[in-house]
Amino acid sequence: MTVKQYYQDAYMKTFQTSIQDQRQDDSGWYVVLEETAFYPTGGGQPHDTGTLKDKRIINVEEVNGEIRHYIEEPFEDISGDVKGQIDWDRRFDHMQQHAGQHILSAAFAEALLYETVSFHLGKEVLTIDLDVSDLTESEALEAEALANRVIRESRYIETRWVTEAELSQYPLRKQPTVTDDIRLVMIPDFDYNGCGGTHPRSTSEVGAIKILDWEKHKGHIRLQFVCGDRVLNQLHRKHGLLKELTVVLQAPEENMVPTVERMVAKQKEQEKALEGLKEVLLTYEAQGLLGEGTSQEGYTLIKKAYSDRSIQELQKIAQHIVAKREEAIVLLVVQNDHKLQLVAAKGSSPSANLREVAQKVFPLINGKGGGNKSFVQGGGEVVMSREELLETLVNQL
Ligand SMILES: [Zn+2]
Repeated sequence: MTVKQYYQDAYMKTFQTSIQDQRQDDSGWYVVLEETAFYPTGGGQPHDTGTLKDKRIINVEEVNGEIRHYIEEPFEDISGDVKGQIDWDRRFDHMQQHAGQHILSAAFAEALLYETVSFHLGKEVLTIDLDVSDLTESEALEAEALANRVIRESRYIETRWVTEAELSQYPLRKQPTVTDDIRLVMIPDFDYNGCGGTHPRSTSEVGAIKILDWEKHKGHIRLQFVCGDRVLNQLHRKHGLLKELTVVLQAPEENMVPTVERMVAKQKEQEKALEGLKEVLLTYEAQGLLGEGTSQEGYTLIKKAYSDRSIQELQKIAQHIVAKREEAIVLLVVQNDHKLQLVAAKGSSPSANLREVAQKVFPLINGKGGGNKSFVQGGGEVVMSREELLETLVNQL
């Protein structure tokens, strides 16, 4: 098969060819071309997209040596010459990122003897995994500076087909996985790699490399970075964010961190103060309920049904009341969304066993709860109104 392929000229944006075949597999309709400049997924580099005649090429994959160009719908007629066009912005971005990865990996190896064990070219950022368990900021900056120096020096990126025997002439970082038709990608005196990806002619076309962050990952360091136009995009987006924050926080960029720190500290203080005020309010509320008690045989009954309140607040109210009045029995019920909850508490003098009372009521609302004879809480489903639940409890006393 004499298929002219992507790697022969990474700058080929359009080409003339003919369709050899049109078929379907699990991924959909695809065509096989006489010649192609489309790059298929491989070597860590994503596939190209583009057009063929009047159809979009949405995916390109190499399957058993055959390059499959996936289309959204089949061609009615596959005869004659067709024009292929690569989505150049996407391809050139991949070339910048891919070559940038070569350069950064080589810089880590050159400056620090840190080897790259894997890499990933993502939609937003790239990652490489370095064969070390820790990385300092100054080390990251050193490798980044070397990588950017190599970019500025506009070094020629050369690709060459070699035989296995010729390989020994080159200081390869890693032995290639193939044994014939080995394609070497070389940045003289810096990086020699077996690689089938697409690369620009010169390191200067990579533009710039910026390391964004790194983290420990499975015993390695996973490092995030961007190259080429993505550096500008990141700067643009992050600067836009900072500008917005400057307005929102009414603080210039250099004062932003202390400003936010002050705000967070203040908020914590306010939350604490608010918590204290809530406690005070709950004691007032409990005080109010004390006056609404009705005298029963051997105890004073205090009851109330609420909606949309936390069970913790009701606990506090009930505890406050029984602490103040030893003859009190307090029954509080609340409906929150799809559940009915209850709190029952008693002072030291009533003889009632609230746990037994509640155990009789829980099955009626398909619920459950826990506690002892002086304090019980729990909840169930809204199969009756909160007032009905309250009355059911009262009747069990
Ligand atoms: Zn490469």
